[in-house]
Amino acid sequence: MSSKNNNKPTCHLCNSFQYCTLGKPNESIANCPMVHKKEIEEAALQLYTTDEKIKKSTKIASMIEAEGYIEWPRLKDTIEYTRRMDYTKIGIAFCIGLLDEARKIAKILEEAQFEVYSVCCKTGSLKKTDLGIPKEYTMVSKTGFTIGWISCNPVGQALLLNDCETDLNLIVGLCVGHDITFTQLSKAPVSTLIAKERSSPHNPALILYSHYGKSITSSINFRESKKE
Ligand code: SF4
Repeated sequence: MSSKNNNKPTCHLCNSFQYCTLGKPNESIANCPMVHKKEIEEAALQLYTTDEKIKKSTKIASMIEAEGYIEWPRLKDTIEYTRRMDYTKIGIAFCIGLLDEARKIAKILEEAQFEVYSVCCKTGSLKKTDLGIPKEYTMVSKTGFTIGWISCNPVGQALLLNDCETDLNLIVGLCVGHDITFTQLSKAPVSTLIAKERSSPHNPALILYSHYGKSITSSINFRESKKE
């Protein structure tokens, strides 16, 4: 296992499932945080006992996991969590490409007695070129699909939902980067209900699974990117 010589955790490299998941640290590697970052593990434990919101959220999340395991879809988990946290107002920040999905989600949430507000990514009709996006990256994508000249506006989505004083905001298909800006500016806690994935029906994990015995990842260049 590589430790990068700094004792910082790389749990993805652990020969695990036999250690922390069974209640003990992995003493045989150089950077198990349960051995080398005990003070941080202790600080985390403290937060579970001293921060009432974290305490409540953690308890509810675990109860929902146990009650609905495998059976409940994420939307049901979300409704159960929201109700048990005593949240009443839900915001939806959605991508215009998922308008139908946003409508269905809002209807289900309203039927579950929540007050629902939503903001589309194109709110404000901001021109991409006015936001410093080069003209050649507007209208038509590099793969030939029409993408348009109006920019997504995650800042507007967050500020508008902040104005609604929502208790929880749900991301429905925001682009990578736009989702980060939205989360950064949202006053309410954020959960991603649908992660945008244009190469599959919004299933980012699909790329990690094999296809006719051949890894899909082998056909994509993950190693190099163009700088801005
Ligand atoms: S916490 Fe320790 S035992 Fe658990 S996965 Fe990380 S390195 Fe392995």
